[in-house]
Amino acid sequence: MPPRQTPDQPWRSEGAPPPPPPRRKMPGGWIGLVLTALVVFLISDLLLSFFGPGGATTISYTEFNNQLNKGNITKIYSKGDAIEGTLKNAGPKPDGGKGTYTEFDTQRPVFAGDDLWNTLQQQGVEVTAEPVVQQRSFLANLLISLAPMLLLILVWVLLARRMAGGPGGAFGRKPPPKPVAVEAGRRTTFADVAGIDEVEAELSEVVDFLKNPQQYRRLGAKMPRGVLLSGPPGTGKTLLARAVAGEADVPFFSASASEFIEMIVGVGAGRVRELFAEARKVAPAIVFIDEIDTIGRQRGSGGGLGGHDEREQTLNQILTEMDGFTGSEGVIVIAATNRADVLDPALLRPGRFDRRITVSPPDRDGRAAILGIHTRHVPLAGDADLTRLAKATPGMTGAELANLVNEAALLAVKRRQDTVNERDLSDALEKVQLGAVRPLVMPQAERERTAYHESGHALLGMLQPGADPVRKITIVPRGRALGVTLSTPEADRYSYTEPYLRGRIIGALGGMAAEQVVYGVITTGAESDLEQVTNIARGMAGRWGMSERVGRLTAVPSDPQGAYGLSAAPTTLDAVDEEARRIVAECYEEAVRLLTEERVRLDALAAALLEAETLDEEEAYRAAGVPRKVLDQA
Ligand code: ADP
Ligand code: MG
Ligand code: ZN
Repeated sequence: MPPRQTPDQPWRSEGAPPPPPPRRKMPGGWIGLVLTALVVFLISDLLLSFFGPGGATTISYTEFNNQLNKGNITKIYSKGDAIEGTLKNAGPKPDGGKGTYTEFDTQRPVFAGDDLWNTLQQQGVEVTAEPVVQQRSFLANLLISLAPMLLLILVWVLLARRMAGGPGGAFGRKPPPKPVAVEAGRRTTFADVAGIDEVEAELSEVVDFLKNPQQYRRLGAKMPRGVLLSGPPGTGKTLLARAVAGEADVPFFSASASEFIEMIVGVGAGRVRELFAEARKVAPAIVFIDEIDTIGRQRGSGGGLGGHDEREQTLNQILTEMDGFTGSEGVIVIAATNRADVLDPALLRPGRFDRRITVSPPDRDGRAAILGIHTRHVPLAGDADLTRLAKATPGMTGAELANLVNEAALLAVKRRQDTVNERDLSDALEKVQLGAVRPLVMPQAERERTAYHESGHALLGMLQPGADPVRKITIVPRGRALGVTLSTPEADRYSYTEPYLRGRIIGALGGMAAEQVVYGVITTGAESDLEQVTNIARGMAGRWGMSERVGRLTAVPSDPQGAYGLSAAPTTLDAVDEEARRIVAECYEEAVRLLTEERVRLDALAAALLEAETLDEEEAYRAAGVPRKVLDQA
């Protein structure tokens, strides 16, 4: 994203004509002025000497007198005490100069008490005179006195233009805005987006409108003024908005809603007004507002930034600007959020963000396509298998996949390879999914306990019918965890059954249960396991209607800060709590029972893990002696 132009302008733009160059003071300030004056002086000096007295030879007054007395002067011309004249016969140049002269000029000294006029008359010289002060016409006088000034200004302007870098300088007229080729490389287009074809298809209508608005106008079709993109972070919402602008080749203005807000009330609204004014100037254009939920939350709900007034004013200004579109300007607002559920309904009214598009994480083919896009400039080794990688990354978003490719490339560089191979890809995946390895020396007892904990997770994962297969187990400390068990679904999952969720809870409790079964005590290592368990159990009881006692209603909002936070009766919330507890208790009992029953497998798996530190899918199933279900339905 291009950087902002000024700190006071919270939006960025691309593909827009460059802003007029800041109006400079006269070029270079005083230095420029002095330079200009010098140039003018030199030019006028040159002109003067050019038009000034031509081939005349300057002679002394004494010499003049001599020639006069010799009778060698035909005529003179005088102005004041200056005399120009012509000789009858050419005389040798005075002061030993070469050649001869006939034209001369000289200056009569003020103190010369001679009787010049009489002598002239005696010698029969023709005398012409001119008044010392020339009587020119008023206009001529004016022109002559203004000439240097005009010349000065002319030179100055030329200089100013040169220094301001092209037209539009100090005095130049502003050129009409031209479509500008984006300097820094190619613009983002739909070719840079993959895996969300249905969204692309919906947006291509917007592109079409921006490209030929006349077509739509002629048929009286109105374009949506606002498009709302909603979806989890990293699914490519920002990318899509830029691609729409790039595809239609129109200017793209983008700002994050939070950037409009400051503690001073009224600033945000002003900035919105400026942004839209800017966009209208170069319409058709796209205005992109990211994180619209920070200002577009339902009134009366908590959270958000800044004061309520400021948020509301800013939001209202955006809505006002959108209402003010006649539709013919061709400014289309695209907003993005990952919390569409908390938005103020006023935003979603017709004429505002009436087109809502959900952007979801890509499916398997989509992931393969996205990996393809992000490896365009990465040299891949022959064994690198993007299809396999796509299969192993369910749930990952475009941003995560881009990051994965980059990690692999970094690994390849570190390993001094010319290409990125399969091993780099799978190691990068491991790093991304499990976290970076932490160099931590663990005491043996601790390692053993961790091995049992992870084996507990893994074994229960393997034994649960329908559970996601275990892909990797490790007791190498990574990120915050002392060990990790990774299971990912075989195919993408879009909904979950109750038995599957119970299986997930049992698997998550497996670590704790294993410690209980083997050591009889519980450690703090299970904190994040319990968080996960709590979320699933509360969801089952309070959101997904999986508890008879709570009933088929939503008691726990998906947005804990949302407006409905306290809409359920306290007794209902109590019931949700009790039901969640019951579910977890049942699952824990089941986990302990299973692990006690399968103690032999648990021991075997833990031993293998202690030995190898990391087990992959095949090794893990073999060590536990659990037959790997044939799951390749996908
Ligand atoms: P969001 O705005 O939804 O949080 P972004 O548009 O900022 O996500 O995506 C971040 C980066 O992830 C993009 O710049 C792009 O490199 C990559 N990405 C995300 N989704 C896709 C996609 N569908 N196709 C290609 N790249 C993607
Ligand atoms: Mg974004
Ligand atoms: Zn655990």
